[in-house]
Amino acid sequence: MCVPGCQEAVRHALSRRGFFKGAAASFAATAAATGDAQAAPRAFTRVVDLTHTMSPDFPTFLGEPGIAMEKKFDLKKDGYNLHWWHLNEHAGTHLDPPIHFSETGITADKIPADTLVVPLAVIDVAAKAAGNPDYQLSRDDLAAWERRHGRLPPNCCVAMHSGWAQHVTNPATFTGRDAGGVLHFPGVSGETTEWLLKQRKVAGLAVDTMSLDHGPSKDFKTHVLWLSAGRWGLENVANLDKVPAAGATLVVGLPKVRDATGGPVRLFALV
Ligand SMILES: [Zn+2]
Repeated sequence: MCVPGCQEAVRHALSRRGFFKGAAASFAATAAATGDAQAAPRAFTRVVDLTHTMSPDFPTFLGEPGIAMEKKFDLKKDGYNLHWWHLNEHAGTHLDPPIHFSETGITADKIPADTLVVPLAVIDVAAKAAGNPDYQLSRDDLAAWERRHGRLPPNCCVAMHSGWAQHVTNPATFTGRDAGGVLHFPGVSGETTEWLLKQRKVAGLAVDTMSLDHGPSKDFKTHVLWLSAGRWGLENVANLDKVPAAGATLVVGLPKVRDATGGPVRLFALV
């Protein structure tokens, strides 16, 4: 079975690269059109890791380390190495499931696997965000993407590339925390979120900053609207500058912990 949106993704990838003349491409195109199970693995040529390395130094929303690692067993002493992790569910590159902002929303373990392998649409707002740390992804940004790449594919993940990942080793800039304790980094506007919910069929939102809502937000409107509508979000996403704006498939590797209200993820973009 082709994953949701896979056929669109394959078509985008093929037309983007101008591969239609190649024999391999025509096989992939035929396979995609017929829903051949072999189609998906043949549709990508490289894997891009969209995950930051997690550590106690990784900048966090609350300002405290997001992970502590306790060495319980040591190879020399015990014959093997083993850490006990003490982990904040919402630190590092991680997923927000619906329960995070909705009493009736599902927990991370209940998110269906087939909604975690989806087409990836990357919206580049890095130039705008460079001059405005409080930038919010707008409907105009989405319209500009659709003019170039066509309508957002069904069940895709819309990712905001603000350029913030480059600041991750500099917590002062990454969090933008000012003298009054207010944070400053880009996010997705509530209006854009509302429009996506009403006008497009999107599975997830992703940002390269600490929060779906921009830093100064007090009402977390995007979190509330998006998660209470049963969608998921990804925060602190890495390497969005290394994937095409359209055509990649995102694979979200999410730990299956009962009742989890979030969790670290390993993200792969199949390009
Ligand atoms: Zn979160």
